Amino acid sequence: MFLDCGTALLGWFDQHKRDLPWRRSSDPYGIWVSEIMLQQTRVAAVLEHYSRWMGSFPTVAALAAAEEAEVLALWSGLGYYRRARMLHRAARVLVAEHAGCLPRTSAALRELPGIGAYTAAAVASIAFGEPVAVVDGNVERVVARLLGLPAGAGADRLRAIRAGAQALVSPARPGDSNQAIMELGATVCLPRAPLCLGCPVQPWCRTRGEHPTIARKPLTPRAIAYTLATDTGGRVLLRQRPAEASLMAGMWELPELPAAPPGARVLLRFRHAITVTNYAVSIVALGGATELPGGDAAAGTAERWVPVDELPRLPLTGLARKALRRLGLWPPASVSGSG
Ligand code: SF4
Repeated sequence: MFLDCGTALLGWFDQHKRDLPWRRSSDPYGIWVSEIMLQQTRVAAVLEHYSRWMGSFPTVAALAAAEEAEVLALWSGLGYYRRARMLHRAARVLVAEHAGCLPRTSAALRELPGIGAYTAAAVASIAFGEPVAVVDGNVERVVARLLGLPAGAGADRLRAIRAGAQALVSPARPGDSNQAIMELGATVCLPRAPLCLGCPVQPWCRTRGEHPTIARKPLTPRAIAYTLATDTGGRVLLRQRPAEASLMAGMWELPELPAAPPGARVLLRFRHAITVTNYAVSIVALGGATELPGGDAAAGTAERWVPVDELPRLPLTGLARKALRRLGLWPPASVSGSG
């Protein structure tokens, strides 16, 4: 079953694969960067960032030599900033211990900061031809459906999925096999309403459709307020998150308020989801009833008046970027159109 199924999958991939910039290169570094960016992030968002990143940091050595603020600024908008910090840290380890080259096996790649089983298998198979299966959420769903496994968790189920994914890997083209099954999961074997009629592995599939899935936990709602303060020189007041913050440490954002003060002039309201929280965001104008919190609320933070055209060089949180964009301050006119 698996041999024929794997062959059909590869044939489909050859004809239908999306033309993505990292697929045009065999550079292990570029493949690694793309795999890290693609974790929990839409391809469209990665496309926006990948070319700029590779333009600024074309090699492991260039990334290792960069300041962390530059790295985070280029990552800004992709979220999950720990990934950028780990990429940066791993680049420095590669320069110090591996002459700037990535190790060629998944086992050795896993020794690097921020590289887990998934990324190690993806880079080792795509860049170096190691016949090892990747198992991410897409692969898990496709293989579970192929094998007729119900939705759920458990070590036995995962073992069966890993074995199934491994059996689908072509020893001659392991990287393409892995990309093919991930591509199938992203474009055909969708979580909701899979496109079974056009599926290349339908003859071998024991599910042929959606199996019942466990309902996701609803996001926790939370109200949050920030203030927009600008001066006559067109600068915006920003505050840096503490270095020890559990989320987005060291990133820059609009100053947060304990709550939107009664009577404050609200400039903008929008929603923004981060991990398991759905924020109802208010941006209020500074002045009148609105005062910037001092003392404890601002402890451990730094503040700066930033000219609008310097915003792209700062590592801003995704929420701050969204607010500044909707307020017409991002991107600044001088970099408009650069993405
Ligand atoms: S036949 Fe349907 S459920 Fe089975 S692998 Fe293909 S798209 Fe997924």
